[in-house]
Amino acid sequence: MTEPAPATIAETLHRRIRENGPIGVDDYMALCLGDTAHGYYHSRDPLGWRGDFTTAPEISGLFGEMCGLYLAHMYELAGMRDDASVIEFGPGRGTLMRDMRHVWARLMPSLNTAPLHLVETSPALRHVQRETLGAATVTEWHDDVEAALAAGNGPLFGVANEFFDALPAAQVIHESGTWHHRLVGLRDGELAFVTGDAVADVDPAMPDDPADGMVAELCPQARHIVTLLGQALASRGGAILIVDYGRDGNPGDSLQAVADHRPVDLFAAPGDSDISHWVDFAALGHAAARAGARLVGPVSQGRFLMRIGLSTRAEQAAQHAAPEARRALLAAIDRLTSPAQMGEVFKVALLLPPGAGTPPGFENEAGLGNDEAWTDGG
Ligand code: SAH
Repeated sequence: MTEPAPATIAETLHRRIRENGPIGVDDYMALCLGDTAHGYYHSRDPLGWRGDFTTAPEISGLFGEMCGLYLAHMYELAGMRDDASVIEFGPGRGTLMRDMRHVWARLMPSLNTAPLHLVETSPALRHVQRETLGAATVTEWHDDVEAALAAGNGPLFGVANEFFDALPAAQVIHESGTWHHRLVGLRDGELAFVTGDAVADVDPAMPDDPADGMVAELCPQARHIVTLLGQALASRGGAILIVDYGRDGNPGDSLQAVADHRPVDLFAAPGDSDISHWVDFAALGHAAARAGARLVGPVSQGRFLMRIGLSTRAEQAAQHAAPEARRALLAAIDRLTSPAQMGEVFKVALLLPPGAGTPPGFENEAGLGNDEAWTDGG
């Protein structure tokens, strides 16, 4: 007799681990978020104050405006080619793209008429994106980056906000002098971390001189995507903004589960809580360089937004606002930029074709040329 299909992610997990042993943390994350029957992103719209978490574009329209202005500037510097297309990775509710398109409607209409490709796996969020942007606005939705890249040949101008943090991350743990795979198994019938086999090939993204018990994270899918995008930009030209929480190196044990705007235990509600991890921008930078492209940054979101003129734009907007709206606007700006809120933890990086010089917003960052004029090498 065959068992009935599992009714929940927890049931799927328990059955799979009982039958085949512990699974990778990346497999755990992929199942919880992406399972086509019960995965977190598949069935719901998790964004906004009524959902589980809020993202920058949902906090203020000025975030999308600034990203739109920035990409318009990059497009102009790259020669405003008429075979360019626009791409977004993990567009959520479509709010960021909608706000970028508002700016382009006034200042760069050719980006509004360029083909628009969205990489999105969630049917529920594709539906919301269609409502927000209008079905006719979107050239095509794609399940993965490969498919989106196959859809054109010209330069690509794009954005990924809080996309890379949702890609499955694997963990390793340093025990008895060696890195081991860190897995999810069952202890007393409950999901728990267990230590697996020793890691055969030490990855350069694992920290040197680890202390006993140290945990490190690897996100091969993020590196793979940056490799594909880097190769595409190197041959086709363009610019892709990457915004996410993370650091310029291995984040250690950064996996977090969130439900209803609160942190919850990673194993408490599989499939019903969002799981994400910090992005290792250094690993993405190496992937970009190996692909023949370059990743500029990261710089903190607060500094980036201020450098590209957010406060000036906010002052303009505040002048025409009623007192209450003005207070809300200033609170939103503070939330996006203050180091105590999203300003420091969130980082911005820019994927570009090979070239020299420092694009706006990234001036005076460690490891970058300071005062060279920005030139697009693509
Ligand atoms: N960029 C949006 C949403 C961030 S949430 C915002 O800033 O508000 C993460 C987004 O990535 C969601 O749209 C989710 O459905 C999508 N996503 C998660 N994993 C994905 C994957 N493997 N491939 C494509 N999209 C994915």
